Amino acid sequence: MKDIRIGLIFLIGAGFFVLQGNIEYGYSEQLSFNEWRYESFEAAFPHKEYESYYVDGKRTGQKRYNGKNHEGAVSWRIEGYERVHPNKEYERKYLDGIKTSETRYTGKNWNNLFFVKDILVVNKAYPLPADYYPGLNPDVLQAFDQMSNDAKALGLNIYLSSGFRSYRLQADIYKNNLNIYGQSVADTFSARPGYSEHQTGLAFDLNTISDSFAKTKEGVWVKNNCHKYGFIIRYPEGKQGITGYKYEPWHLRYVGIGNAEAIFNSGLCLEEYLGLTSP
Ligand SMILES: [Zn+2]
Repeated sequence: MKDIRIGLIFLIGAGFFVLQGNIEYGYSEQLSFNEWRYESFEAAFPHKEYESYYVDGKRTGQKRYNGKNHEGAVSWRIEGYERVHPNKEYERKYLDGIKTSETRYTGKNWNNLFFVKDILVVNKAYPLPADYYPGLNPDVLQAFDQMSNDAKALGLNIYLSSGFRSYRLQADIYKNNLNIYGQSVADTFSARPGYSEHQTGLAFDLNTISDSFAKTKEGVWVKNNCHKYGFIIRYPEGKQGITGYKYEPWHLRYVGIGNAEAIFNSGLCLEEYLGLTSP
């Protein structure tokens, strides 16, 4: 068994605190920190002003808080970080030496997932099982790294701001949005638990999750080039009536290069391409 210590650095108010969590795996393969992306490690401290995520000492994301109390704080804290590995048997998360959660992986074949043309479909009509927990797909991560490296060579900065999300994490996010915006508005941009593409491990959000991302140099380049790496803008402009979500220039979905190029050239959204609806 392997113990890995990870330091997550939080900036809390005026001071610095270092929290350490360690994770134990039920197999002996050597792990690399490069394989990791931190999802979140949330709201254990309601008074913090902002939180930064680091991988190998490099900042990969940042979230800001305005001193308000976040609901679901305990759940966020437990969800912590997720990782990529299809062969692991179980994963235990610790905080300050205390086990906060354990997730088991049985390697079972999922037969209640909905595929069309080898594409796993998740939308308002086709949910995922609550215990479907694949982590961020390694092929997706590799394609993302290639894309961000190519962008970097052009002077563009593209980074992951949200990757894999578990059912439970999505439940907290949706609940929070529901409380703030009410159901009809929340449903235009926030998926209900089980209905989020982030739970597939094949989708992620880039940079700033804001409409203004579309107008940045990065946003324009991603829109015109992401298909070369197997990605599509999953919720395109003008397709809200079909996808069920407003334009999200920051949300990419991996469908493989062949499908991505066909979808890009067709001008269709994924539902149209597959002949589906998302009521
Ligand atoms: Zn997203």
